[in-house]
Amino acid sequence: MLQEVALGSKSLADYTHLSGRGVVDEIRELAGPLEGKRVLHVSATAFGGGVSEILYTLVPLMRDVGMDTSWQIIMGREEFFNATKLLHNSLQGDPKSLSGEQWELFDHYNSINAESLEGDWDFVIVHDPQPVGMRHGARDHGKHWIWRCHIDLSEPNPDPIERLLPLISEYDASVWHMEQYVPAGLNGHGGVQIVPPAIDPLSPKNMALSADDASYVCEQFGIDVDRPLLCQVSRFDPWKDPIGVIDAYRDATVELPHLQLALVGSMATDDPEGWEFFRRTYEYADSDPDIKILNNLNNVGAIEVNAFQSQADVLMQKSIREGFGLTVTEGLWKSRPMIAGDVGGIPLQIVDGESGFLVSTPAEAAQRTVQVLQDPGLGKNLGRAGKERARERFLTPRLLLDWLRMFTSLEG
Ligand code: UDP
Repeated sequence: MLQEVALGSKSLADYTHLSGRGVVDEIRELAGPLEGKRVLHVSATAFGGGVSEILYTLVPLMRDVGMDTSWQIIMGREEFFNATKLLHNSLQGDPKSLSGEQWELFDHYNSINAESLEGDWDFVIVHDPQPVGMRHGARDHGKHWIWRCHIDLSEPNPDPIERLLPLISEYDASVWHMEQYVPAGLNGHGGVQIVPPAIDPLSPKNMALSADDASYVCEQFGIDVDRPLLCQVSRFDPWKDPIGVIDAYRDATVELPHLQLALVGSMATDDPEGWEFFRRTYEYADSDPDIKILNNLNNVGAIEVNAFQSQADVLMQKSIREGFGLTVTEGLWKSRPMIAGDVGGIPLQIVDGESGFLVSTPAEAAQRTVQVLQDPGLGKNLGRAGKERARERFLTPRLLLDWLRMFTSLEG
């Protein structure tokens, strides 16, 4: 059986003055004719990662505007999720793909999940590759089927994408963060839609924290709140380049000897590669007392992430490769000057020199850090512009509006 996710309620009205009345009015207008429509979201997990972060807000808001909306989690044993982890990596270019036996497991779990799907839905939204095969076996349960892809499929390993393309093409529409992420084989397929993700401005991670609360939290992690703080919030992953952040920090301390650095990153306990990279980052910091490296074993949850993002004088996201970069959106929303890698979804969020700085090397990141810290007016202006960009484009009500537009057009 698919497992229903229990959710609290949220009210669109609470977002009116943060997102602006325009978007809320448009939502209400489109939601009218969709009232009572049955919407099902299907995903692989309810915990961790961007998909669940988004659905915890989007699903209650869909309900609030009148749609009968459900979120269900597929079932699978470890063997299935081991295969889909490989699938996830290979779809993003890892040369290692699934074995014949693992493809059989993939098909098997997709078909038993399809068989256990119940009800008649107006819209079924299937998130990410793990359950992508479900439409094949359950098409009669849904009038419109939409596949929502949260990852970059522009440079996949050819084996998995050849297996998935026929499955994706069966959907009435597929939805992507960015045009560049749509695999070549899908071009021309009528249902391709581009919709970037969004953050919830009222969630514990993004709600306004007072400066006092932010510094109170950071102080407990050894930050001297009277000295400038540079911070990156990210998993410990080579693509997030924490080593490059340390280089940038060291370079910047030549001019700003009082600067401190915090690297805040959560770790999956079952991710040995992540821990190995964490260890390398830790060694690279070389016991510098002004570099704080924190992970979830230090109890860093949403409020702590919020506090570090709010407290930082400069936020960095020095990624070398990035899907969308929700941490960038989170930083912009907190009006912080953001210095980030010129890759993936980051340039969509930061207009260089206007709402932050885009960089490609640690030296550039250091130079921009020094520039911002020596000119508080500049940091303030970048932060303000960044916040307005996040408000206009990357908050959940805008995402809800995009979904309603899609439903309306599918209903014809
Ligand atoms: N995150 C967190 N704690 C951490 C590190 C990251 O809660 O210690 C969150 C971060 O705030 C963001 C998400 O994990 O919401 C990461 O999303 P992003 O798109 O930046 O990168 P991904 O990890 O998906 O590549």
